[in-house]
Amino acid sequence: MLRYMIANFALLTAFLFLFNQLFRRYLNDGPRSLRLRLLIGALHGGCALLLLLFSFRVNENTVIDFRHIIVICSAYFGGLPASLVTALFVAIGRVAFFGGFTPSATTAIITIALVGIGSGLIMQYVGLYWRRWLLSLLLSLSLITLRSFLEWGISADTSLYLTLIGSGGLFSAALIAFFSTSNRLAQELENSENRYRTLLTLQEAIFQSAVGTAVTVCDSEGRITHFNKAAEKMLGYQADELIGRETPLIFTDPKEVTACAEQLSRMKGKPFSQADVFIYYAMEEPSEGREWSYIRKDGSRLTVLLTVSPLLLDGEAIGFIGTATDITERKKLEETLHQLSLLDGLTEIANRRYFDESLHEEWRRAERSDKPCELSLILFDIDSFKAYNDVYGHLAGDVCLRKVAALAKGIVGRPSDTVARYGGEEFAVILPETNVEGALRIAQKLRAAVESESIPHAGSTVGAVVTISVGVATLQPKESGLPERLIEEADQALYASKANGRNRVTEYRTVAKNHADEYQSS
Ligand code: GH3
Ligand code: MG
Ligand code: MG
Repeated sequence: MLRYMIANFALLTAFLFLFNQLFRRYLNDGPRSLRLRLLIGALHGGCALLLLLFSFRVNENTVIDFRHIIVICSAYFGGLPASLVTALFVAIGRVAFFGGFTPSATTAIITIALVGIGSGLIMQYVGLYWRRWLLSLLLSLSLITLRSFLEWGISADTSLYLTLIGSGGLFSAALIAFFSTSNRLAQELENSENRYRTLLTLQEAIFQSAVGTAVTVCDSEGRITHFNKAAEKMLGYQADELIGRETPLIFTDPKEVTACAEQLSRMKGKPFSQADVFIYYAMEEPSEGREWSYIRKDGSRLTVLLTVSPLLLDGEAIGFIGTATDITERKKLEETLHQLSLLDGLTEIANRRYFDESLHEEWRRAERSDKPCELSLILFDIDSFKAYNDVYGHLAGDVCLRKVAALAKGIVGRPSDTVARYGGEEFAVILPETNVEGALRIAQKLRAAVESESIPHAGSTVGAVVTISVGVATLQPKESGLPERLIEEADQALYASKANGRNRVTEYRTVAKNHADEYQSS
């Protein structure tokens, strides 16, 4: 008996294992088609036939096997259609293997048909796994007891039968629960792996398709882990050459990074290394783009707008991602536009705006200087220029203005000096670190140069040629308030040159002295 019993357990286990393996995909998916349910029923029917082959007879009337259990299993997987098919297999097997249509076979067939219908309905309509199984088993056990009672009377064999079916049923339920759980877990793993692969593909596609945006990813140690195609194109390196190396110090300008590190060290009061600079910006100012100079593999330079952000995992930075766009052309254009906005269109020397910026800058520079530092300003104005226009015409006036500007530019030689068109026919020269003697020398040179250019001027009140009147002022910005004072003084000196007959140079101090003298004598 034990042998048959073990054979039944083994057959059931092997079948359930194989069935779960083969049908894993279908069992996890939602609703099952009628065809699949019938197939499930037939397969369980096949197993039922094998179980019937290993039935064992405990007495004349009682044949024990797990046919009821396999019908319940079939009901569990395929509902009523499956359990009916399996029950049909059992009925056929019962008639074929155990002596044809005997009265006992008829009751056995009725019993198994009722088990099929009952468990099919229970599995289809009752919720909760164990409740379904226990109800189905209870039904089977009740029907076996009834049949035993009606056919041969309740005996010790009946209890054995019930015990075996009960324990076999619980065993199958536990086995199927285990298989279902591991199937679900395997499916979940497969799904998440698929999702991960899709995400990875998507991420790679986005990473590589960022045209014109160089993306560099590095780990928390600063070593490059990813380098996209746009970065390869921008910098002339292949990803393979850089992955694993320390970034971004390979292609940034070391001087720029060092200057930045020093500035941060001063600001934060703690030492900053070159690599710390990018980590600082990633952590403290992740969304702010900054301009950096990149150096290509061939040594050429470009300006990029770089944004560095941390890659955070559970709040901890596991790396950094840098996205850079090449703004070299934009910078050049901006620079050109800036230059153009500071140039005077007619004379092609600095315009009034440039003059104002330059004067303020030089004033601040002199103020900051730790040694005494003088700043001089020359203002000069063409004499009787209105009359020049009247006599020679406005276009000739323009030519004259250009000539005077060019002369002044030629005389004022130092790169730090600025020659600008201050207004109509009025010009200004800023002379940083120049004392009054130096400024007067240049002013005289200017005046003499214009006069000796001998541009005819029939309408002039001064002479036959174009002349200028010049005003000179010199101040120590540290002690002198605002730069406007320098303009005011130079202007007064220029006014004095005009008042005293034109074509001359006047220094502000003489104007001031004359005023003081006049004040005293009055
Ligand atoms: P002063 O000796 O006192 O300086 O007399 P002025 O005639 O030179 O001075 P005023 O301020 O009376 O006239 C300046 C003239 O400069 C008037 C204006 O038409 C002329 N002017 C200003 N800008 C330009 C310019 O761009 N081109 C030309 N051709 N003339 C200009
Ligand atoms: Mg004038
Ligand atoms: Mg004028």
